[in-house]
Amino acid sequence: MSAGMNLPDTVRQFRDLYPASGEPVVWRAPGRVNLIGEHTDYNLGLVLPMAIDLACYVTAAPSKDGRLRAYSQQFQEVVEWRLEDLAAIAPRGHWSDRVAGVVWVLLRQGIPINATDLLIDSEVPLGGGLSSSAALGVALTLALSENRPGIDVAGLARAAEVDTVGLPCGIMDQFISVKGQPGAAIFLDCRSLQWHPVPLPRNCAMVVVNSMVKHELANSAYRTRVAECAEAAKSLGVASLRYAELSQIDGLDPVLRRRARHVITENNRVQEFVDAAMAGDVGGMGRLVTQSHESLRDDHEVSCAELDFLVETALNVEGVVGSRMIGGGFGGSTLALLHPGRVEALQAAVRTRYREFSGMSPEVQVSRASAGASRVYP
Ligand code: ADP
Ligand code: MG
Repeated sequence: MSAGMNLPDTVRQFRDLYPASGEPVVWRAPGRVNLIGEHTDYNLGLVLPMAIDLACYVTAAPSKDGRLRAYSQQFQEVVEWRLEDLAAIAPRGHWSDRVAGVVWVLLRQGIPINATDLLIDSEVPLGGGLSSSAALGVALTLALSENRPGIDVAGLARAAEVDTVGLPCGIMDQFISVKGQPGAAIFLDCRSLQWHPVPLPRNCAMVVVNSMVKHELANSAYRTRVAECAEAAKSLGVASLRYAELSQIDGLDPVLRRRARHVITENNRVQEFVDAAMAGDVGGMGRLVTQSHESLRDDHEVSCAELDFLVETALNVEGVVGSRMIGGGFGGSTLALLHPGRVEALQAAVRTRYREFSGMSPEVQVSRASAGASRVYP
């Protein structure tokens, strides 16, 4: 799987899979890398994601037999429902729950679901911290609503993910998949939903390294962090940690104090990173990213040995200006910022050393800021 899905092949595959189906339309929704601002979105804080050039593609066409059908190229499996059963399907811990989740959310909005054949194919690695789930959710929302004017695609896709997985995720992943722009990250204030593009300096490459691990406790720890942040806010008498300041947190219980300190300092780092990016200060951007990792590791306590190792390894490569874990933590990926001429040196170092450390081969990918979701065929 490489960036730039071959659309004619996708359409051909769709016709082979569903010979009786109508004229297909292909929707693309990208994954994302969040440059800085981790574990801040559910605290109504600041984030700075960019959409990447790896995307999920959902091809859709009307079917004639009153069914909704979805085939995932990644799972090589088809699932189908009768339309009249859709409202009552229960999640079963299967990838197709994601399709069902979008269906419920659209039905709740009064948007009818027609009999449709779907082909899902994604370049975004599943579970690699690049948000394949939001890319899928956004592409499915566009496909099943036919991008009906006036709908809040990101909000609906987020509601679907929360419904399906039961994870209280923030809006960032779906938002950036919809709003991404080539060459720019998007500064998003999760409290006001105000946002603006932040052009990225060209002399800064961004490399994502997939640790290939996802520890069992990732989901439960995420829930715990959400709950701890809510508790810290409550103890401080504010609606969310977004309204808290460092000077207030001394009296908190030590664990809650660390969580609050992460969130408050991370919001500040996002602002500083935006200033550094605008000034073309690549070294400054890198330092902030590394500080973000230290805060995630020591205060928010969501890193793990593999992620720490990958960050350390990257930082030891000449030309790398900063590195941190990205995503929820306990596995997934790391990000490194570096001089573009040093990408191969980083790849080589990380591949060799991580294999020695863990026995696994990490996936290493250069990420470029790319456009948000849209119809790409016809
Ligand atoms: P991430 O979003 O970081 O990639 P998640 O665990 O949140 O990881 O989402 C991965 C899940 O999303 C998969 O297990 C699957 O249920 C669903 N998913 C993502 N992409 C696809 C796809 N192409 N086909 C089917 N399901 C997918
Ligand atoms: Mg996800």
